[in-house]
Amino acid sequence: MSLKVWIDGKLHDKEDARISVYDHGLLYGDGVFEGLRVYHGRVFELHAHMRRLFDSANAIRLSIPYTAEQLRTAIEETVRVNSFTDCYIRLVVTRGVGYLGLNPNKCAKPSVIIITDTIEMYPQEMYEKGMSTITASVIRNHPNALSPRIKSLNYLNNILAKIEAADAGVPEAIMLNGEGNVSECTADNIFLVRDGIVTTPATHDGILEGITRRVIIRLCHNLSIPISERSVQRHDLYIADECFVTGTGAEVVPVTKIDGRPIGNAQPGPITRKLSEAFHRLVREG
Ligand code: PMP
Repeated sequence: MSLKVWIDGKLHDKEDARISVYDHGLLYGDGVFEGLRVYHGRVFELHAHMRRLFDSANAIRLSIPYTAEQLRTAIEETVRVNSFTDCYIRLVVTRGVGYLGLNPNKCAKPSVIIITDTIEMYPQEMYEKGMSTITASVIRNHPNALSPRIKSLNYLNNILAKIEAADAGVPEAIMLNGEGNVSECTADNIFLVRDGIVTTPATHDGILEGITRRVIIRLCHNLSIPISERSVQRHDLYIADECFVTGTGAEVVPVTKIDGRPIGNAQPGPITRKLSEAFHRLVREG
């Protein structure tokens, strides 16, 4: 049976799920999105994702034609018709169909798309042995150009950084901000551990405020692990005892090499393991 995709209130077979070539989401990357996960039939951190979606939409003056409650019902319906108990959800809101010019006011109505599917971010081996990364030459969006806090359909600079990672033969790249401080990876937030203290770049360093990042910060508090949100230099990563990245798709991935330098003893560290286990307990047990 074909997967069903929800578009503007109707379910379509995956093969027939289409939007117009005049949609400004396609023509200009004009829109916002969320990536969510369903674990054991429950959407993880739904409220936080909805909040970020509406915040992103507000920031780009996009008015979502549904309430958060209506979207929740639509998500649950789409998960149910596809008989998923564990899956990834991609929720996309585009500016909608317009003319070939930029003007968003000429787009009649935003389109909402809900895709549910399986996703595999990284091979299992990386969760056990750790991942190698590089720092990219392409910087993260300057907050005064397009705030990285907006989860917009414009991922081109992240994609360029991802290409640099692929060229270097590694799966992920670390992006710096305009000041040269660490911001985040192309689709994940980053954490380091040094002397038992967990540190992650602060919002003002130009990051997407990841939902998984927030959950990890909460777990640090619960487990009495000191946690600090502050500016991080590339050098801080090089001299860290441990490093890991977080995201809805990736969950928690240990990083054991950056720019050719081993991090700590080049093995996933004890605090990374502890947080990763706590995260998995949380998503399994709610
Ligand atoms: N940073 C970027 C640029 C992202 O696209 C994502 C989402 N994949 C994240 C961080 C992680 O955010 P979350 O934990 O909400 O998935």
